[in-house]
Amino acid sequence: MKSFDVVVIGGGPGGYIAAIRAAQLGLGTACIDDWRGADGKPALGGTCTNVGCIPSKALLQSSENYYHAGHAFSEHGIQLKGIALDLAQMLKRKDKVVRQNNDGIVFLFKKNKVEFFHGRGSFAQDSADGWEIKIAGKPAATLVGKHVIVATGSNPRALPGAGFDEKLILSNTGALAMREVPERLGVVGAGVIGLEMGSVWRRLGAEVMILEALPAFLGMVDEQIAKEASKVFAKQGLAIQTGVKITKVTAKKTVTVDYTDNAGAAQSTTFDKLIVSIGRVPNTDGLNAAAVGLRIDERGCVAVDDECRTSLPNVWAIGDVVRGPMLAHKAEEEGVAVAERIAGQHGHVDFNTVPWVIYTSPEIAWVGQTEQQLKAAGVDYRAGTFPFMANGRARALGDTTGMVKFLADARTDRVLGVHIIGPLASELIAEAVVAMEFGASAEDIARICHAHPSLSEAMKEAALAVAKRSLNS
Ligand SMILES: Cc1cc2nc3c(=O)[nH]c(=O)nc-3n(C[C@H](O)[C@H](O)[C@H](O)COP(=O)(O)OP(=O)(O)OC[C@H]3O[C@@H](n4cnc5c(N)ncnc54)[C@H](O)[C@@H]3O)c2cc1C
Repeated sequence: MKSFDVVVIGGGPGGYIAAIRAAQLGLGTACIDDWRGADGKPALGGTCTNVGCIPSKALLQSSENYYHAGHAFSEHGIQLKGIALDLAQMLKRKDKVVRQNNDGIVFLFKKNKVEFFHGRGSFAQDSADGWEIKIAGKPAATLVGKHVIVATGSNPRALPGAGFDEKLILSNTGALAMREVPERLGVVGAGVIGLEMGSVWRRLGAEVMILEALPAFLGMVDEQIAKEASKVFAKQGLAIQTGVKITKVTAKKTVTVDYTDNAGAAQSTTFDKLIVSIGRVPNTDGLNAAAVGLRIDERGCVAVDDECRTSLPNVWAIGDVVRGPMLAHKAEEEGVAVAERIAGQHGHVDFNTVPWVIYTSPEIAWVGQTEQQLKAAGVDYRAGTFPFMANGRARALGDTTGMVKFLADARTDRVLGVHIIGPLASELIAEAVVAMEFGASAEDIARICHAHPSLSEAMKEAALAVAKRSLNS
């Protein structure tokens, strides 16, 4: 039995980052992960790298390039003839990007002296030297960890009575690997994943209908931004229905979905494929949690306190398997914080400044409070918006949809939330995160020199608009 200061179960963004940080801090560290790639080889990086963040962004980029070649290049004076979709090559490129990321983590483990074990890890028992963790792999092994970090992630949630077969009813895994563009694609769930997957296949030519149970479209997003998004997506041909209740799904050669619409009328529609993206379930399968008394909460998450401590001494849990937003960067932050706490430092994660991004076109990104949250909390605030239409760089790019919106405390001017719909919102939001982390006021951003011409000027202008003094609109 090999002993380590830290044994991490799960090699996704939470687990692998925790392992690297622990090793950097001088702790003897092992990471156990059971993922295998399509080629059958161990594939570090978890959901994010293999069937999540990375492949989805690869396909979003490729599909956007394809769309632009067919629809936007002529405006720039570039005439293309014979544009054809080579989906096999697009998927091959996506797989290559994934493998580069898998291999990158192997390299990082070697560099940082993290020992990697491929297989499924489960709690065996507590011993005088630490927790014994059994690995069901080839070869099987048992490790002892003074500390254990559970980072086992999440699995896609299926519709009741309509499990994933990845042929007709697809999770994110199948949605990222369709070998043909379906003529009619149904998507259940208009959340981040549903919108991103719907966008990919719409741009490649599918007729896409998205069915959402909640009455409001993008309820977690600032209402003004969500309204703008709804208009843009409708123009792109994403048919989104909200307030839908699915009553039956029948998969034979095609998939028929029976549902009631938001007016309560019974509807039935048939798709070639159906993507189900209605959330994710924390993954505690096979951990042997009950036998060792690891508490699982009522939502199926490993129960943790504010510092990611579980019900067991020296056992921590992070990422999708615990409460909080299911985001790769949240998992990473928790991984770093826990490694630092184990090393006697004061790791910290600020949930108020975790950014969110939806990588549609235009992108949607935000941090902090929405206008509706501030209203509900009775906070006196001022709002400033600036449209990309009035931004020189956006015009030059040919991408002027959307706006930046700042929300600041009416009395102190402190930035409370920033919401963006527009080009490269995923990159622009970083400035807002920094501002909020440093407790900046809107005026602080407004007085900072931003490069011209750049999209970031829209950030400055929206901050100026809080005091009703934007310069370019
Ligand atoms: C299509 C899609 C797109 C996404 N896009 C984004 C995005 O753009 N940005 C973003 O922030 N988030 C995105 N996410 C969410 C993101 O992927 C997750 O939040 C993130 O992967 C969670 O990281 P994690 O380390 O907690 O778990 P995971 O990434 O799920 O990793 C857990 C790992 O542990 C392994 N494991 C589980 N149990 C065991 C065990 N007992 N023994 C050994 N190994 C085990 C699993 O096989 C897996 O490899 C996306 C998700 C999907 C599905």
